[in-house]
Amino acid sequence: MKAESASAPSSYVPDSYGRNLYEVDPQFDALLRLYLPGDLFGHLRPHLVRLGRLAGSTLDELAGTADRNPPALRHRTRNGADRQSLVKHPAYQELERFAYSEYGLAALSHRGGVLGWPDPMPPAAKYALTFLFVQAEFGLCCPVSMTDSLARTLRKFGSPALVARYLPALTSQDMDTLAQGAMFMTEHGAGSDVGATATLARKAADGTWQLYGDKWFCSNPDAALAMVLARPEGSVNGTKGLALFLLPRELPDGSPNGYRILRLKEKLGTRSMASGEIRLEGATAHLVGDLGRGFVQMTDMINNSRLSNGVRAAGLMRRALNEALFVANERSAFGRRLIGLPLMQRQLAKMMVWTEQARTMMFQAAAALGAADRGDATARQLVRILTPLIKFRACRDARKVAGDAMEVRGGCGYIEEWAEPRVLRDAHLGSIWEGTSNIVALDVLRSIRKGDALAALAAQWQRQLDEAALPPARRARFDALLRGATEFAREAAAAPEDTFARQAASGLYHATTAAAMAWESKRTGDARRLLLAQMVLSHRMAARDPLAADPEATPLIAALLAERPLREAELAAAVR
Ligand SMILES: Cc1cc2nc3c(=O)[nH]c(=O)nc-3n(C[C@H](O)[C@H](O)[C@H](O)COP(=O)(O)OP(=O)(O)OC[C@H]3O[C@@H](n4cnc5c(N)ncnc54)[C@H](O)[C@@H]3O)c2cc1C
Repeated sequence: MKAESASAPSSYVPDSYGRNLYEVDPQFDALLRLYLPGDLFGHLRPHLVRLGRLAGSTLDELAGTADRNPPALRHRTRNGADRQSLVKHPAYQELERFAYSEYGLAALSHRGGVLGWPDPMPPAAKYALTFLFVQAEFGLCCPVSMTDSLARTLRKFGSPALVARYLPALTSQDMDTLAQGAMFMTEHGAGSDVGATATLARKAADGTWQLYGDKWFCSNPDAALAMVLARPEGSVNGTKGLALFLLPRELPDGSPNGYRILRLKEKLGTRSMASGEIRLEGATAHLVGDLGRGFVQMTDMINNSRLSNGVRAAGLMRRALNEALFVANERSAFGRRLIGLPLMQRQLAKMMVWTEQARTMMFQAAAALGAADRGDATARQLVRILTPLIKFRACRDARKVAGDAMEVRGGCGYIEEWAEPRVLRDAHLGSIWEGTSNIVALDVLRSIRKGDALAALAAQWQRQLDEAALPPARRARFDALLRGATEFAREAAAAPEDTFARQAASGLYHATTAAAMAWESKRTGDARRLLLAQMVLSHRMAARDPLAADPEATPLIAALLAERPLREAELAAAVR
C-alpha cells in the first residue's frame, strides 16, 4: 500500500514504500555478475534497477489492490449470450501488462527481442527478473510461468504445425494478441495420484479429439491455451495410459470451445489470480507428442513450473527479509534501534540464511538448466534433482520466513494494509500446488533411484569446494557433513518405505547450498557467502547442543545484516 506517512514524525511506524528492491539488496547485484554473462548483465542491469523501483512502489500498490479485488466469473454477456468471461480488476490487468508486455517474462526464454536483447535469454536472467517481480506480486507469476512452461513443452513435443500455429501468440508482448497458458491436470480423485486421471479423450471419425470430464483445480482458467492430461478411450490404466492435449479456449471460428468454468475457488492467497473448476463437455483438443507418453511429456511442464515455484519462494523470502531489515533499521524500542539488539540480530540472521540458501539454489538450478538445454548430460542429472530440492525446501522455508518477518514488524505485520499478510498467505501455497512437499520429496528419492543424480550432485559439491580453497579444518567440516547428507539420502532411497524422503531432501538441499555458497564466496571475493555457508552447516546440518552458544554468534552477524561485504581475513579471525 502506498505510503501516506513520508513526512511523518519518527514515532510513526516506518514505511518502506518507494524503496528500490534491487538497490536495497546489494548481494543480488554481486551474484548476478557471477551467474550472468558479462554483456547480458550489463544490458539487463538498468532494467533490473527499474524493476526494483517498480516492485517497491507501483507494482506493490497494484498487487495490494488486486489482492483486495479478486476476479469474478461472468456467465453471460449483457445481451444474453452464453459466453463466459473473467472480470479482472484493472490493477491485475496492469500487472499483466508489466509482466507479459513490458518485461516479456513469458517470452524471453523463447525468442530474442525482449528488453532489447537480440537472443533468447538464459534461465538465470528469467529467474532474476521473476525474483524481483514476485517480491511485489505472487499470484500473477503462476499464469506467467504456465505460459512460459506451456510454450517450452509445446516446442519440445508439439508437431511443427502446432508450434507454428500457437508459439507466436504465446510469446507475444502485445496484450491484444497474447495467448496465456494454463495446465489442467488435477481432478477430484486425481491430485498427487495423476495415474487416476479419469478425463476421457475420444477420437472422432475425422481424426479430431474431444475431451470429457471434470478438472478440479485450474489456475488461469480462461487462458487461451491449456495443456490437459486425458485418457484416450480404451487405453490402459495408470500414467502410461495418459495422453497430452493442447486445449484452445476458442474454436477457429471464434466460438467458445466445449468447456465451462463451473465456479472460482475462494483462496487463502493468490487472490488476485483466478483458480477455477472446469467441466470438459466434448472440447476439441490437439494431441501433443506421442499418445502413450502424455505423462512423461507433461512432466517437463510440471518440472519447469516447480523450478519457477522455488524461484518464487526465494523472491517471497527476500521480500520478507527486506521488510524485516528495514523495520529493524528504522524502528526503535527502549531507546535502541532494533537492528542493534543481539536477540533481534539472531532472528534476522536466521531469516537471512534461509533466504540466501534459496537464492543460491535458484542460481544453481538456473545454471544447470541452461547447460542441460545445451545438451550437457551431467547438467541434466543435476536439474533432475535440484528441481524437486528447491521446490520442496525453499517453499517450506518461505512459510516460516514470511511468518517471522510478520513478527518483526510487530502488530502492523498482522494488518492487511501492510505487505506481510499477503506475503504470508501467498507463501503457504508454494508447497501445495505443483506437487505437495511429500510428493516432491518422493521425487528426490526417485531421481536418486533412477539415475546418477546424486553422484552428479556430490561431484559438483567437490568441484565447488575445491575451487573455494578452504583451509583444511574448515574443508574437513564441510566434507564430513556433506558426506553424511549423501549417505543418508542413499539409504533413504534404498529403504523399503519412503519414510525419510523429506529428511533426506532437506539434507541434500542444505549440502548443495553450503557448497555453492562457499564457491560463490571465492568467486565474488565476499566472505559473507562463506559465513552464510558455515551457518547452514551449524544450524541446519550439524548436531547441536541446544544449550550451547552458536559458533557464529559474533560481531560478524552485524556485518551480515548491514549487508556490507566481508573480507575473508575478518571471517577467519572471528569464526573457527
Ligand atoms: C490455489 C491452487 C491452484 C491450483 N492450480 C492448479 C492448476 O492450475 N492445475 C492443476 O492441475 N492443479 C492445480 N492445483 C492443484 C494442486 O496441484 C493439487 O491440489 C496438489 O497437487 C495436491 O493434490 P490433491 O489436492 O488432490 O491432494 P492429495 O493428492 O489428495 O494429497 C493429500 C495429502 O496426501 C499426501 N500424499 C499423497 N500421496 C502421498 C504419498 N505417496 N506419500 C506421502 N504422502 C502423500 C500429500 O502430500 C498431501 O499432503 C492447484 C491447487 C491450489 C491450492
